[in-house]
Amino acid sequence: RHYNFCAGPAALPTAVLERAQREMLDYQGRGLSVMEMSHRSSEYVAIAERAEADLRELLAVPDNYRVLFTQGGATQQFAAVPMNLLGRGGRANFIETGIWGNKAIKEARHLFGSAHIAASSAENGHVEAPQQADIALSDDAAYLHVTPNETIGGLALDFVPVARRGDGVEVPLVADLSSTILSEPLDVSRFGVIYAGAQKNIGPAGLVLVIVRDDLLDQAVSEMPSLFSYRQLAEAGSMINTPATYSWYLAGLVFDWLKRDVGGLEAMAEINDRKAAKLYEAIDRSDFYSNPIAVRNRSKMNVPFVLADSALDNAFLEEAEAAGLLNLKGHRSVGGMRASLYNAVPESAVDALVAFMGDFEKRRG
Ligand code: PLP
Repeated sequence: RHYNFCAGPAALPTAVLERAQREMLDYQGRGLSVMEMSHRSSEYVAIAERAEADLRELLAVPDNYRVLFTQGGATQQFAAVPMNLLGRGGRANFIETGIWGNKAIKEARHLFGSAHIAASSAENGHVEAPQQADIALSDDAAYLHVTPNETIGGLALDFVPVARRGDGVEVPLVADLSSTILSEPLDVSRFGVIYAGAQKNIGPAGLVLVIVRDDLLDQAVSEMPSLFSYRQLAEAGSMINTPATYSWYLAGLVFDWLKRDVGGLEAMAEINDRKAAKLYEAIDRSDFYSNPIAVRNRSKMNVPFVLADSALDNAFLEEAEAAGLLNLKGHRSVGGMRASLYNAVPESAVDALVAFMGDFEKRRG
């Protein structure tokens, strides 16, 4: 297998794919594939429950939080969050740090007419994130939404915000953790709602993980479609309809891999720290490569970089691909390069990338 630096859908651990392959036709002697099982069968319910239990253990999810395995991508949550949290009035507040957060803002405005930007990095072109002191919630804030890691820009918040209004009331913090979940330990209790599209650190695209605090299950608008409703999803064990059974099973294999093969999220974070440090060092020691993000806000998961001469971009990408380094092209909206270093990208991939970058610079720089 080649090294895959894709931002999403991203690489899955090879050990997970191998196990899925072994179990594809005949799941543990049952004579059928997981894909063919009834979601109500005891075999499948055991798979689903194991996945949730392993996730809860990995993230130390407190008992007063529900874990939902739902569908529609993280984008569906851009709508589901305000619909679940604004039923008692108030306004969605946002820290705006890039393209994904902006899509969430747009959706909240579309559905509820308005949204308040409590802090933004738009003025500096999203290269340096706001700090706690910059956050000014509206008086009617119902919650504060953040995108702790902007996957396209490679901008990461370096703190967990406290969402306190002028009147002293602390409102729930909502986080789109699509591109960082499970990359390091997380204090779930700081958040009201966490959601993450699966296709980076969890499993196949389409599946979405939502972790929601119990007291936020009854704040939804009254005309809520059942499939969007956190309360109904929680009450039905995420099985209002047929869930994404195979994706949920694969997510469970990834959680199992994280627990058993990697040794948990602290061990994962150490590896991820080393990977990111190696790549940023390579970028920083050369005049040929550069990354625009303020050092404190550099993402460990998505590392955008540009070549001093953009005329060499295509040659860089073609030669990288020939060397087995796939999907290094930056997002179509920003250009340049981007290396995504999610959990399944091994340290050896970063070593190979750094060696290739050095070699390319020597030959073409
Ligand atoms: N939020 C973030 C931070 C993302 O990186 C992405 C990208 O995949 C999304 C939301 C959108 O996810 P989806 O394509 O699953 O709707």
